[in-house]
Amino acid sequence: MTEQAQHVPPDVLSPTERTRHRRLREQGSDRRADLDAVLRDGFLCHLGVVVDGTPMVVPTVYGATADTLYFHGSVASRSLAASPRAAVCLTVTHVDGLVLARSVFEHGINYRSAMVYGVPRLVTDPEEKLAGLRCLTEHVTPGQWDYVRGPSRKELAATALLALELTEASVKIRTGPPDDGDGPDAALGLWAGTLPLHQHWGALEPDPALPEGIEPPHHLAARARQPLGRP
Ligand SMILES: Cc1cc2nc3c(=O)[nH]c(=O)nc-3n(C[C@H](O)[C@H](O)[C@H](O)COP(=O)(O)OP(=O)(O)OC[C@H]3O[C@@H](n4cnc5c(N)ncnc54)[C@H](O)[C@@H]3O)c2cc1C
Repeated sequence: MTEQAQHVPPDVLSPTERTRHRRLREQGSDRRADLDAVLRDGFLCHLGVVVDGTPMVVPTVYGATADTLYFHGSVASRSLAASPRAAVCLTVTHVDGLVLARSVFEHGINYRSAMVYGVPRLVTDPEEKLAGLRCLTEHVTPGQWDYVRGPSRKELAATALLALELTEASVKIRTGPPDDGDGPDAALGLWAGTLPLHQHWGALEPDPALPEGIEPPHHLAARARQPLGRP
């Protein structure tokens, strides 16, 4: 396999014993493009890891390349310290709306979500660490890495960066109206449908400590008041 071929992910996610959809299988997707879209549209994940025998689910930001997820934190973080040795399950979730059915039982959520499994790798190579931190920063706030001061040697030493390969992942997506429109409850005469959820950024709020005359850079001004997602 050539160096370049290693970085071209397959179009289809091959199921493993862990990622094979069992319940609500019709919501499962094996399209690699769907995984990429879920990861692209978010920047917050929940990292599930067992620390000293106790499960912890830690909200944290991530950055994604074609084949790797990067997440970071303090070198003192217990969840990150455990991660390089332990299997983790990392989830990314987008809520797109409420599904309001005629019965309580049929209520649901329209969503897109991904679960990624693996044993993360602690990034120690200085070049990859800088590139991974750049990837993460740019994923959360495109344009910001080049705008602000980069990390000092001391700051880099205080930061743990972990890499999780995108080799074992599952995706589920639900869209559309409730499922009971053609069932017996349709005769109840109750309103049913969906309540979509749209997320937007607000207006920029300057730091009160900011001296006059410093205008926000274009990449931030352009993102304010825009829908959540990639600019
Ligand atoms: C915001 C939100 C709210 C939800 N609320 C409910 C709820 O109240 N009740 C409920 O039953 N379900 C809910 N779901 C769906 C839920 O996430 C599971 O998909 C579903 O419960 C089936 O779980 P399971 O463990 O039986 O899945 P299984 O089919 O047994 O899981 C097999 C494998 O499928 C994959 N998988 C399962 N769920 C997901 C997922 N959401 N995203 C990506 N991969 C997945 C995993 O790799 C898992 O190991 C919700 C989902 C979202 C995103």
